[in-house]
Amino acid sequence: MYDLSDETQSKEAVKMPITDSILNLLDIKDPNLTITDVFEKIIRNTRTKIIQAKLSYQPGRCPNCGFSDSIKYGFKQVSVKLVSLTALACLMHLKKQRFLCHQCETTYFAQSPFLLCFNSSFSKPLCERIIELSFDSLTLKEISKLTGVSTSATNRIAYPARVIQKTPELPENLSFDEFSSRHNQYAFMAINAVTHKLVTLLPARTKMTITNYFWNHYSLEQRQAVKTVTVDMNAAYASFIYQIFPNALVIIDRFHIVQLLQTAFKDTRVATLKRLPNHHSRQYKSLKTHWRLFNKTENQLDAQHIKYYRGLNEFTTQQNIVSLGLEDQPTLTAVYMVYQTLLEALQNRDFKTFETTVHQYQRTNTTMDTAIRTLKKNLNGIQNAMLYPYSNGPIEGLNRKIKTLKRICYGFRNIDHFFTRIERLLA
Ligand SMILES: [Zn+2]
Repeated sequence: MYDLSDETQSKEAVKMPITDSILNLLDIKDPNLTITDVFEKIIRNTRTKIIQAKLSYQPGRCPNCGFSDSIKYGFKQVSVKLVSLTALACLMHLKKQRFLCHQCETTYFAQSPFLLCFNSSFSKPLCERIIELSFDSLTLKEISKLTGVSTSATNRIAYPARVIQKTPELPENLSFDEFSSRHNQYAFMAINAVTHKLVTLLPARTKMTITNYFWNHYSLEQRQAVKTVTVDMNAAYASFIYQIFPNALVIIDRFHIVQLLQTAFKDTRVATLKRLPNHHSRQYKSLKTHWRLFNKTENQLDAQHIKYYRGLNEFTTQQNIVSLGLEDQPTLTAVYMVYQTLLEALQNRDFKTFETTVHQYQRTNTTMDTAIRTLKKNLNGIQNAMLYPYSNGPIEGLNRKIKTLKRICYGFRNIDHFFTRIERLLA
């Protein structure tokens, strides 16, 4: 639609201060833009605020030939979607000035920094708003509703073609973990153990994917500079970390050591509970209701203060409850003692005690046997865990954020979109 007339000139002059206020309110900083009218219209059953505006300035050099020999040559009206200030959708009917170059006989249009590009119908602030919203755990549908842009357009704006990013510098201390991505597959994640910034996301956690990534993206020199890598105990990373980072020490995450021991003790406790003949006995109650006390270390247990304990229905101390629970249960007592010794050694960073306890362990035919076997295999990593302050706590925190994002968005069909959202979430 072309409009060669220039009738609104006088109207503009009167409205000038109001125009400035509206532009200020819309956060559009373009001196060449003038607002001529604001009205309301029903478009596709939705009330829409329409802002009529004009974009014009004195022509400069022609973008085609470079000569300064252009004249104003009419207007073209386009619709540009704006960020809504009220709950109503906001649309700008913009008359763009057309210029004609006398030298090369071509026409071109007035440009504005607030417009996204030559023929996009979304304003730059609106696109920025959509990207900004995608940094939070929101579904595309919610973003689309908040901005008044269709879902498919939101999708297009929120996930522009993935550009190959510059690989970040390899930090000296890394932390590895995995998270479930799509179709019961696991993805791999590495972060900087000190700054907790994301280093990489990989779609699979296989040895080949991980080694190839680090081999192809970092030089041997860079990889040799890596000092420590923190991993879970159950992951197979420990077996090939030496191939990627020749000088790195593997640290087993402290939390996972405690968790392994805790689970082993819990299994034994539950097995003991099932074997107890009388389910109303004091021992049963103490093992069942007050299981938390068994996870406390010896110096955390209160041996002095007498309190009323529910379930047991009597006044006693924490220490007494633990003794009562272990009464006449040699297997459970043995497992409890090992559990406590290892827990305390870990807390006091006393590797010698830890090592001796693991080596002198006598089989009890409980889950603790398996746990000790796992610990024996990972003794080096456990020693490092006691020497260095790094743990997988931060990466597990990021993991929770990823899980929440995935749940809120009901999963992702496109893994690239999922990774883009994770990168934004953790940025
Ligand atoms: Zn030209």
